[in-house]
Amino acid sequence: MIVEPKVKGFICTTAHPEGCRESVRRQIAYCKEKGMAEGPKKVLVIGASTGYGLASRIAVTYGYGADTIGVAFEKEAKGKRTATAGWYNTKAFEQFAAEDGYYARSFNGDGFSKEMKEQVIEAIKSDWGQVEMVVYSMAAPRRTLADGTTVSSVLKTVGQEFTNKTIDLRTNEITEVTVPVANEEEIANTVKVMGGEDWEDWIRALAEAGVLADNAVTLAYSYIGPVVTHAIYKDGSIGQAKKHLYDTAVKLTKEFAGIGLQAHISVNKALVTQSSAAIPIVPLYISLVYKVMKEEGLHEGCIEQMYRLFTDKLLNKEMDSEGRLRLDDWELQDNVQEKIAGVWDKVTTENIQEYGDIDGYWEDFYQMFGFHYDNVDYEADVEI
Ligand code: NAD
Repeated sequence: MIVEPKVKGFICTTAHPEGCRESVRRQIAYCKEKGMAEGPKKVLVIGASTGYGLASRIAVTYGYGADTIGVAFEKEAKGKRTATAGWYNTKAFEQFAAEDGYYARSFNGDGFSKEMKEQVIEAIKSDWGQVEMVVYSMAAPRRTLADGTTVSSVLKTVGQEFTNKTIDLRTNEITEVTVPVANEEEIANTVKVMGGEDWEDWIRALAEAGVLADNAVTLAYSYIGPVVTHAIYKDGSIGQAKKHLYDTAVKLTKEFAGIGLQAHISVNKALVTQSSAAIPIVPLYISLVYKVMKEEGLHEGCIEQMYRLFTDKLLNKEMDSEGRLRLDDWELQDNVQEKIAGVWDKVTTENIQEYGDIDGYWEDFYQMFGFHYDNVDYEADVEI
């Protein structure tokens, strides 16, 4: 089949198997060129198929020489419908890892469920004995709870509505958006989906099953960003979930001190991923950030971020006063943020190409789904 991109708003409903393979190959090549560091050899990644989780899986495999178990929720191909990008990424990663002599086993299904936790625990027991590192990189729009009810997360403000510029991803037009206020129930549900409860459930289940190694490390990912995004992110409904995630890190480290567990939050850079494309205002901010950081020679993608996290920040225990790893250090540098603040008020539909890196944004967007790689033949028939 010839596979073409079908973009609807902030999502692409097709994915290219060869392009996804190329994306994984490039991320692996980056790590191979950078070389190895000392680190855990048995790593579980939850949310391992795209974005920061996939990059984490690649970085620990090729940066530590680790064996990995990955959990993700992806769709396989059906009839003429392609599989999701994460499904192709996972298949490609497993192949590359096997060729290079690394164990890589993947589970596809609902990471929030008890059944998934049990399956993974069984795999750790039979294949490894214990796991030394757990990366929690799940980003989901909803969660089905143990009692069968499903709750959804929202991307809204807390307290008062917020109006600011945004980019309409269908037309590249700069428009205004008013982000509505989340009510108490929506905030609570967002915390249920994107907060630390499920991370804690995983750690507890692993520890109770005796498969969490002494002195294990666990990480979850967060975002802070500059003032212009605070109303929608840091201080918004998603920010409440991220506060809960942070509190969970503190709680887990304390509660599992007996086995020496260290739970950390890594605050990562704003990047185009399937999750961030859905947030109002953030894609416009990302296009400005890309422009400035590329000009300053500071731009990183998911793999550069995660390689730096695992082989530098985490190894050197370089943390801020609240104990967080700060991979957003370059994004939040004064010279970067001053430049963005200087153009934020000026940016319009007419000059967005000048002030923002719209092409870079879309390049990353298409590549997430395996398109726009110069060395992939998109005219060729592919097995989906
Ligand atoms: P992503 O959409 O690329 O990845 C999400 C992953 O979660 C995928 O592997 C997906 O399969 C998996 N997933 C979703 N629902 C699942 C379920 N029910 N069961 C199992 N797996 C499931 O997102 P991302 O941007 O890489 O986000 C990962 C983390 O990084 C999130 O905590 C996010 O808040 C954080 N983060 C993202 C950014 C950014 O700019 N993208 C910045 C800082 C922090």
